[in-house]
This record gives sequence, structure tokens and C-alpha cells, in this order.
Amino acid sequence: MNTYNVIIIGSGPAGYTAGLYTARANLEPLIICGYQAGGQLTLTSEVENFPGFPEGILGPQLMENMKKQATKFGAQLIFKEVTAVNFKERPFKVIVDDGEYQAKSVIIATGSYARMLGVENEKKFYGRGLSTCATCDAAFFKDRKVAVVGGGDSAMEEALFISRFASEVQVIHRRDALRASKVLQDRAFKNDKIKFIWNTVVRQILGERFVTGIELENIIDRSISTLEINGVFVAIGHEPKTKIFQGEIALDAHGYIVADQSGKTDVEGIFAAGDVKDFRYRQAITAAGSGCIAALEVAVYLSEN
Ligand SMILES: Cc1cc2nc3c(=O)[nH]c(=O)nc-3n(C[C@H](O)[C@H](O)[C@H](O)COP(=O)(O)OP(=O)(O)OC[C@H]3O[C@@H](n4cnc5c(N)ncnc54)[C@H](O)[C@@H]3O)c2cc1C
Repeated sequence: MNTYNVIIIGSGPAGYTAGLYTARANLEPLIICGYQAGGQLTLTSEVENFPGFPEGILGPQLMENMKKQATKFGAQLIFKEVTAVNFKERPFKVIVDDGEYQAKSVIIATGSYARMLGVENEKKFYGRGLSTCATCDAAFFKDRKVAVVGGGDSAMEEALFISRFASEVQVIHRRDALRASKVLQDRAFKNDKIKFIWNTVVRQILGERFVTGIELENIIDRSISTLEINGVFVAIGHEPKTKIFQGEIALDAHGYIVADQSGKTDVEGIFAAGDVKDFRYRQAITAAGSGCIAALEVAVYLSEN
């Protein structure tokens, strides 16, 4: 069986960038793309904050460009999902449905996904007024009314960020107190644009093509109400895609891969890049940057071993 110098698991900005750099270093990488080839940006329309595209670029187009650039230099792609790994033996084993691959090193770039509300029609509104990323989308809601769902640190960070653009931010929280840190709570309470709706959950997103409102349920008295808004930001947490790595490398209490700034994990030769190790920044450019770093580190690792 062929032993690859490096296998990259995942084909978002982190995976394709790692592919580009390792390919240009003549390491002949294999990228196992997974079911969501191109990663999270394939779910969105306009991306306005990836440098190099002053007019913005569509998410799927940006990912197609990254794929082309990686394959141009010889990265090999396969469109399969990794179902298990064995990092205890060398070469490392990466298992897919119908076979197994071996590699001297692995870059994990499997990303994460935002937890959703679980209401019936939310998928329809993704990118049409419903967002999971204020940094990405808040600017589209200038002088508009929006809701932020959640009560933790990220919900408060999102609400504060959005308040720079929106005319009004309604925080919908299912409890009667926030879980966010005191500092963030204080900042949010002091912000005139941010209002709170307590003990309340979202039952439905309203609108034809774009969000025009949400239906709310008060969980104490079960009363139903409608809130007219132009956007909903869901900020109830992210889940890293790391189930298949449990027991193989160190994960933190939330399931993120524990890696240093260079992407090194606790297993020598296994690197991580992008949202799978980053619970804070979660941006295409930071994911791409960490894919580059992991690739450079892989080159050093392979030359030393
Ligand atoms: C709707 C939306 C809009 C966004 N807009 C912006 C924006 O405007 N600007 C911005 O900077 N960021 C934006 N983001 C965030 C950005 O998309 C992410 O930060 C970025 O994609 C993370 O890149 P990544 O490579 O770490 O992972 P991802 O993009 O999540 O890619 C993960 C990859 O891993 C693969 N994978 C997962 N599990 C397996 C497995 N078992 N086997 C094989 N492959 C696997 C998937 O198929 C996928 O290809 C947006 C996110 C969303 C959801």
C-alpha cells in the first residue's frame, strides 16, 4: 500500500490551504474531502472579508478557486468521509467506508458546525436573514432589527458586535439570567440598542424568501408572540467535528483538538488546522492561515523524521 507523506482530512479553507502548501513543497498530499467538499463556505453566498476580493466573492466560488489552486500543484483529492483513524501505529491509518490509507503525517481540518435551533424551517433561511456568524454577516444588517438567540459569551459577543450596525438587537434567551461572563453581561446591559426577552424560545422563523420575523414561546406561561425582525443570529454554540479522533489525540472538554499555535497535537506527526481547533476566531482567513502553518510544520517534521 502507498504511504502518503501527508493526508489532509477536510476540504475547507484550512484543508485546501494545507493542500496547496504541501503540494508546492512536493509532498504529494492526499486530501480526503468529506461529504461537505469545500466546507462551511459552500453554505453561504457573499463573502466580503476574505482578503484579495475587494468586490466580495461567493463562498462556493472561493472554495472552488482554492480547490483549483491546490490541485494545480498536484494535491490529490478524494471525495470520501473518514470513518476512523489509527494514530497509535506508524504509518498512521486513515479509514474510509471502502478502504484504508496510510500516511507519515496527518493534518486534521474537519472544521466545526454551529448548533441550530432545531425549528422546522430554519435551513430554508440560512443566508437569507438567518446567520450563525456576526463577524461574517452583521454588516448586512445596517439599520435593521435583529434577534440574537443564546445567553452565553458568544451570544453576548455577537449581540455587541451586531449593535454597531443594527438599529435594535433583541436577545432571546430561554432562561431568566445569562450564562455569559460578568464583563460581557455588563457591556450588553449598558448598550442602549440591546434588549432582552427572557424565558423564551424561538418556535418558528417567519418570512417568504427572507426572514421577516420570528414566532416566540414564553416557556413559563406558554404564551406565543411574534417579533418582527430582519435577521436572526443563532449563537448557541459550535460543535467541532472530532468524534472519530476520540481516544486517538487529546481533545478539550468541548471536543476541540488540543493543539499549539503551530498545529501540533499531542501525537507527533498529527497536526490540526482551522475551526476544529479554534473555538474563538472561526473565520475563513484564520482557518486558511492555520492550514498554511500546519503544512509548513509538516514539511519540517517530515524532513526531520
Ligand atoms: C453560513 C456561513 C457563513 C460564513 N461566512 C463567513 C464569512 O463571510 N467570512 C469568513 O471568514 N468566515 C465565514 N464563515 C466561517 C467559515 O466558513 C469557517 O470559519 C471556515 O470554513 C472554517 O474552515 P475549516 O477549513 O476549518 O473547516 P470547514 O470549512 O468547516 O471544513 C471542514 C471540512 O472537513 C470535512 N470533514 C469533516 N468531517 C470529515 C470526515 N470525517 N472525513 C473527511 N472530511 C471531513 C468537511 O467535508 C469539510 O470539507 C461562515 C460560516 C458559515 C456556516
